[in-house]
Amino acid sequence: MPITPDLLDRLAARLGPGGFSTDPDVLAPHLREWRGRIQGVSPFLAMPGDTAAVADVVRLCREAGAAITPQGGNTGLVGGQIPDGEILLSLKRMNRIRSVDPANDSLVAEAGAVLAVVQEAAIQADRRFPLSLGSQGSAMIGGLISTNAGGVHVMRFGMMRELVLGLEAVLPDGRVLDALSPLRKNNTGYDLKQLLIGAEGTLGVITAAALKLAPAPRQHVVAMAGVTEPGHALTLLHAVRGQVEGLSAFELMNRQSIALALSRVPGLREPLALAPPFTVLLEFETTGSEPLEDNVEAVLADMLETGVIVDAAVSRSQTQAREFWRLRESLPEGHRTGAAQVNLDISVPVSQTPAFIAAGDALGRRMVADARVVAFGHMGDGNIHFSVLAPDAAPHDAFPYHPLQEALHDLAVSLGGSISAEHGIGVARKDELLRFKDPVALDVMRTLKAALDPQRLMNPRALI
Ligand SMILES: Cc1cc2nc3c(=O)[nH]c(=O)nc-3n(C[C@H](O)[C@H](O)[C@H](O)COP(=O)(O)OP(=O)(O)OC[C@H]3O[C@@H](n4cnc5c(N)ncnc54)[C@H](O)[C@@H]3O)c2cc1C
Repeated sequence: MPITPDLLDRLAARLGPGGFSTDPDVLAPHLREWRGRIQGVSPFLAMPGDTAAVADVVRLCREAGAAITPQGGNTGLVGGQIPDGEILLSLKRMNRIRSVDPANDSLVAEAGAVLAVVQEAAIQADRRFPLSLGSQGSAMIGGLISTNAGGVHVMRFGMMRELVLGLEAVLPDGRVLDALSPLRKNNTGYDLKQLLIGAEGTLGVITAAALKLAPAPRQHVVAMAGVTEPGHALTLLHAVRGQVEGLSAFELMNRQSIALALSRVPGLREPLALAPPFTVLLEFETTGSEPLEDNVEAVLADMLETGVIVDAAVSRSQTQAREFWRLRESLPEGHRTGAAQVNLDISVPVSQTPAFIAAGDALGRRMVADARVVAFGHMGDGNIHFSVLAPDAAPHDAFPYHPLQEALHDLAVSLGGSISAEHGIGVARKDELLRFKDPVALDVMRTLKAALDPQRLMNPRALI
């Protein structure tokens, strides 16, 4: 890869002090994937402070034939943000909220703005930005858009794609694409921002986005309900949706996922006395004045009476609501045990989630001795994070990583599902993408990549 001292000198001169680093200690946290599974290398960390500087970095690299890996908060779970020798382009200094327009229900944020900061800016304007996920204290707008992130409110507000009104991006040839308009209706040809959403940095560098805001909720209730099997969770989902306004999250957690989190994350508490085989976290948020808590209690009482659920608890305060959410958000940490494991981010039609969990559980136990099967996630939109863990002491080299992953992906696809619901493809799922993606779709993706980035300099190892 032609990264010469001359290129590094040019980049350094353009970016100035504070705009770059070659110090291994500064680079180190940018080169390590969150779970420690991928260790990258890069000779140079570019940290441009504005769009013009991003464009110049891209142009200088293009002239030298040097590749770039864009990076936001480095919370991606498929490794697309970790360079393997490329120039690392961090957006973290481009973190301003450029404008807020409450009357248009929109705000414009730079790519390096952290999601939690964007959420807070919306609250200050008496609005909300409804994207919400466990990594929101670190994940950045550019990364969230590039992975088309999902999270816990997709069933009500959609994925990141549905929350982006406009984009500004630097294309692989260094030109700035100004599609930052916050219009809801704009039928003037190809909707180019859609190309960059979910492109994982392979078609350009996102520098800013116009985001869609929603009304601020006035009432907020979080509940936990226990069920003996996922099919009952499905019945609960439809009953609740039909009877109470404002369901915004429906998160399923199996016993194993909760048990691991309780044993490994300090300060968590079992939410339901019965410790049922499956627990569902339900969140309701409304802007109106109907008696939300009463309505939630009534539907849960009804479900208890008919035997759909076996236990329930409704939050009595914001502190208790946060405690319920903390358990859910601690589940990924729970199985970072160092045990050999396969972790999936599959989706199936919501109706097929019980079938996937039952068959996946049986498969995991058949292929791994003394397997621990972890299933949790966004059941309200059919997205289950499914893991099979060997016992902690079991040797890693005996773990059937690839056959098990393939068998579980085959299962999801046979049920009409996808091998990647929300984390993307990155470098970790490229082989599986080739196995399952429609050949015509793959061909169109390659054509688009070749048209916009003929030298393959933008995140060349990710996605396609
Ligand atoms: C605890 C935890 C919980 C999570 N929960 C969820 C969840 O519920 N839902 C979900 O969808 N994800 C979840 N994730 C995954 C992750 O947070 C998301 O994928 C997030 O969108 C990544 O944002 P980031 O800023 O960290 O991007 P990074 O990890 O830095 O980058 C991700 C990808 O985007 C590219 N990229 C980054 N910035 C830009 C840019 N400005 N322009 C072009 N390309 C760019 C990178 O090259 C890479 O390919 C979770 C992760 C963790 C650690």
